[in-house]
Amino acid sequence: MRTTPITDNLIQLTRLRFVNAYLLREEDGFTLIDTTVGRGADAILAAAAAAAAAARAGGAVRRIALTHDHGDHVGSVDELKDKLGDEVEISIGEIDARIHAGEKVVEGKLTGSWPKLTTTPDRRLVAGDRVGSLEVVASPGHSPGHIAFLDTRDRTLIAGDVFTSFGGVAVSSHFYARFPLAAMATYDKARDLQSARDLRALDPALLVVGHGPAVRAPQAAMDAAIARAGG
Ligand SMILES: [Zn+2]
Repeated sequence: MRTTPITDNLIQLTRLRFVNAYLLREEDGFTLIDTTVGRGADAILAAAAAAAAAARAGGAVRRIALTHDHGDHVGSVDELKDKLGDEVEISIGEIDARIHAGEKVVEGKLTGSWPKLTTTPDRRLVAGDRVGSLEVVASPGHSPGHIAFLDTRDRTLIAGDVFTSFGGVAVSSHFYARFPLAAMATYDKARDLQSARDLRALDPALLVVGHGPAVRAPQAAMDAAIARAGG
C-alpha cells in the first residue's frame, strides 16, 4: 500500500496502484473514507499508526465513512470492524445501505460489484449530515446512493467515483479509455453527470477521488470533464 500525504489533514492510501482510500485527521483520531478492496485492514491501520506517530497525535480510526457500496470501496469493512469493534462508527449513504440490506430500492440491474458484508452500518447518511468535519453531499448515479464528502475546514472534496483523475479529471458517466472501469460500473449516467455538476458547484479547493491522484484548484479541470461528458 502506498501512503501519500495530501494536506496536513488528509492522507491518501493507494492499493493495487489504482484504488484509493483516505485518512482524514480529526481532533480525536482519524476518519477513514472508503476501505479499498479486501484484506486491507492491517495495512490501513498501520498507515494510521505511522501517520499519528509522525504528527505526535492520536492514531485511532474512530469513524469509517463510505462513499458507496462497490467492492473496491467497502472491501475491507468487515475486517476493519473485526479489529476495531464497537470503537468505530461505520456510515454509508442511506440508499446504498438499503440495497445492501436486501431491499428492492431501484429498478433495473445494479452495476459494479456488491460484495456480501456482515457489517451493518451504524449510520445511514443523507445530504447535510455530518461525519466529524465532513458534510455529506448527495451524489447519486455511479451507484444509486453514492455520496461525497466536503471537509468544511478547507473545502477539500472527497468525491468517490463521481470523478476519476487518471491522466486528467473525467466524469465516471463518460467512457474514458484511461480508466474504463469507472464508466462500466456506473448505474445511471445522466444522474451521475448531474452529480458531477453539483459537486463542481461546491467550488472545492482540492479534489480527491476513488481512482487517481489529488487535484488542487480543480475548477477548470472539473468544468472540462463535465463538458466532455456532455455538459
Ligand atoms: Zn471505485
